[in-house]
Amino acid sequence: MIKLELNPVKYENDLLELVRMFEQFTDMNVDISMSFEYYNGVLEVKIKASTFENFIKIYRYQFDYNSELEFKRLEKRYLKMALYKVISFITGVNLPYGCLTGIRPTKLYREFGENADEVFTYDFNVSYEKLKVIKDTVNTQNAIKNRNNDKIDFYVHIPFCPSRCAYCSFISTPINKQKAILEEYTEKLIKEIRLMKRYIRENKIKLRSIYIGGGTPTSLPIDLLEKILKTLNMRVKEFTVEAGRPDTITPEMVDLLLKYKVTRLSINPQTFLNRTLKAIGRKHTNQDTLNAYNLVKDKFDINMDLIAALPGESLKDFENNIKKAVKLNPASITVHTLYIKAGSDLKVEGYNNNERNTEVFNMINFSFKYLEDNGYNPYYMYRQKYTAGSLENVSYAKPGKECVYNVDIMEDDTSIIACGAGSSSKLIKERDLIVRQFDFKEPKEYILRFDEIIAKKKEFFEINF
Ligand code: SF4
Repeated sequence: MIKLELNPVKYENDLLELVRMFEQFTDMNVDISMSFEYYNGVLEVKIKASTFENFIKIYRYQFDYNSELEFKRLEKRYLKMALYKVISFITGVNLPYGCLTGIRPTKLYREFGENADEVFTYDFNVSYEKLKVIKDTVNTQNAIKNRNNDKIDFYVHIPFCPSRCAYCSFISTPINKQKAILEEYTEKLIKEIRLMKRYIRENKIKLRSIYIGGGTPTSLPIDLLEKILKTLNMRVKEFTVEAGRPDTITPEMVDLLLKYKVTRLSINPQTFLNRTLKAIGRKHTNQDTLNAYNLVKDKFDINMDLIAALPGESLKDFENNIKKAVKLNPASITVHTLYIKAGSDLKVEGYNNNERNTEVFNMINFSFKYLEDNGYNPYYMYRQKYTAGSLENVSYAKPGKECVYNVDIMEDDTSIIACGAGSSSKLIKERDLIVRQFDFKEPKEYILRFDEIIAKKKEFFEINF
């Protein structure tokens, strides 16, 4: 266990997050005390550790800043850099992403311009492999990133699924237990969409994309989903529906999505192994995935999600999953590192994939190499706290088949109008100034307190009608 004592106690959560990442790789017991102060504008960080007698390291950093916000960001960054170097030295552990703990390493990489490689390698200690993922992702994004602040995205949330996956902690309620509220939810959602459509019209806003996510939007009864699609009806180049569960794709559903000009669908196998699908609470089989894929493959751009480090799956199993997905030849493949969320069934059952760090590292490295070798380029990536091996989630696409909405949401550079329980709208004001408005998470609360949502939405978007 690594015990950290801070003086002053500042950025405790961020620094402890870094400590916890190391703890995935070492059993070493060490007490670390870290203090810092400023001398003539120079930040001096002093770190002592109990492992070696009289061990003390001092780091000095000088930096310029333009605002209080920037000062805090930089101060925290230097403290993490110093702490990383000491713990890495003591334990002999090098983390794949070095001292980086944030969700969006690509955004940070872009910030450093031509110095990015050097800073990421020597200051942040990012490994060669991860630097390559970041660089390749940034390269793909250059062609599709939002350069115009006048364009936004439109998101609609459907918080229902056929069943709950064992790793899920989303507010996503099995749809058969929610039948009584589906109509009312749809009705309210349509009202919210109509309000925001009018806002778009009156402000002459252009859309980059529409995305219906969840949950599993295609688990809604077809007549209700049609009402939503009919209401949305806006001209847009990219229109995604996150079907997710292959067992929700029927010929009628495909016709409906085509009728309303959906361009992109997610059909998520997660794995092609039936025993794992059963173990993680998905109610479909490998054959369902193949059937669904055959129904949609020539009609939409298809994304397929896979997960590394699912319970009971070896490196070989995972490699086979990747190879099978590539053979199907979808427009994009997204590889997630299993993240055991609080509240998920896997967490409750005590499944801990942090014991599989090396194996998971090899899985993720394999997916990167195999997908790039087979014509898929990484185009967006993000990290979550406490994934096995502190690894990442990456989506890969064939050239020209990237999902613009996914890039926008991950790069945090595009405003989003979001409707539905659990959704969050965001307005990009300027760098580091992003404001958000949240709709209530629970579908029942969304229905009951709908007037409050509309009032909040009007205030947030400064709507007067
Ligand atoms: S499909 Fe997604 S949202 Fe639905 S239960 Fe599974 S992980 Fe959760």
